[in-house]
Amino acid sequence: MLGRAGISAVLIDPHTVYPPDFRCEKMDASQVELLKKTGLADAIFAAATPDDQLSIARLGRLVETRPGRQYGILYDALVNTMRGQISPQIDFLVAKATSIAPNGSRQRVTLSSGDPVDARLVVVSNGLNAGLRHQLGIKHEVVSACHSISIGFDVKTADNSPFRFKALTYFPERPSNRMAYCAFFPTAKGMRANLFVYREIDDPWLRQMRQSPESTLFTAFPGLLKLSGPLSIGDVKIRPVDLYVSRGHRQGGVVLIGDAFATSCPAAGTGTNKVFTDVERLCNVYIPRWLATDGMGSEKISAFYDDPVKLACDTASRKQAFYLRALSTQVGPLWHLRRWARFLVRLGSGTARRLLMKSAGRDAIVAMPRS
Ligand SMILES: Cc1cc2nc3c(=O)[nH]c(=O)nc-3n(C[C@H](O)[C@H](O)[C@H](O)COP(=O)(O)OP(=O)(O)OC[C@H]3O[C@@H](n4cnc5c(N)ncnc54)[C@H](O)[C@@H]3O)c2cc1C
Repeated sequence: MLGRAGISAVLIDPHTVYPPDFRCEKMDASQVELLKKTGLADAIFAAATPDDQLSIARLGRLVETRPGRQYGILYDALVNTMRGQISPQIDFLVAKATSIAPNGSRQRVTLSSGDPVDARLVVVSNGLNAGLRHQLGIKHEVVSACHSISIGFDVKTADNSPFRFKALTYFPERPSNRMAYCAFFPTAKGMRANLFVYREIDDPWLRQMRQSPESTLFTAFPGLLKLSGPLSIGDVKIRPVDLYVSRGHRQGGVVLIGDAFATSCPAAGTGTNKVFTDVERLCNVYIPRWLATDGMGSEKISAFYDDPVKLACDTASRKQAFYLRALSTQVGPLWHLRRWARFLVRLGSGTARRLLMKSAGRDAIVAMPRS
């Protein structure tokens, strides 16, 4: 985005080609809208797999089937496709940044090769790698340790027949499952699934999931088998996520974005909203404004952290993380009611959509389980 705006910039990353990594693997409608604001959407859409139709199920019953608005794309494909859009005038230095020395209007980044890079502004977007931030005196305040655990896996039907759904989100039967949901969605490499659970990292259930994923999944979701048929699961990856926020980050010459600034809960699926919002505000609004005048003091940098759009996005992300965890795990009549309300709202909108389509003389979009 900076290169396209004619701003001189250098990208520093240790990977020439971003390697396979279990992170965000699908984009929802809100993320697609944000992506459009970056000017990079067309390339990503071409590399991603849209799901034409999304089915929502609970208790072995389809409650809603609606037109799909998600795009499945593995994280390395997402990052490498974006990198393919970088203008040729942007230098790409394949190295680690090992230190940052802010120095008024000019900051110095030292690379793993020992070479220095001087710049007016350093955008720190190095994700979960905390070393550089600690060296700048920026602290991580953990607001929820092991907030959720994401489990990603490849999935096929046991007999290699086509799936009975295009994409499916399956909600757990009861809060004692300690699960948010399991989402099945197509990617260029086949069907993927992301299961989000709330357990301790040493919970033996996670070992079972790694060792015998099919039986562990169907024991947790007994109603799923009726909808999906027998499945074959491979390449199970398990990642716990801590929620943290940065402290002491309002410094001149250095700005933090994405996970480097604060993490999100993958189950709530807001990490991509956060990083796309940060990038869009920074590149479309703040960096051109900051470069137009001398200096790069902390008052300039603070304007980005206080941006109302960014603040609203970060706040929504944090709220959703805690609400979804409570909705998925809390017992008691109020939470029970809320779970049923969510179920009934979806059932109602699914039924209304089917009736509307029937009255419009078209076949209702329904993924029928084979009996
Ligand atoms: C398992 C999992 C599942 C998720 N699922 C979802 C989801 O479904 N929906 C959603 O919206 N979000 C999801 N997220 C969150 C989302 O993936 C992240 O919020 C987002 O990818 C963060 O992007 P980023 O650019 O901040 O960091 P990253 O993508 O981690 O980028 C960091 C970059 O910095 C580089 N780097 C690191 N150290 C250095 C250094 N010293 N010098 C130079 N370069 C360095 C790395 O090589 C990398 O390229 C998930 C996260 C996880 C862990």
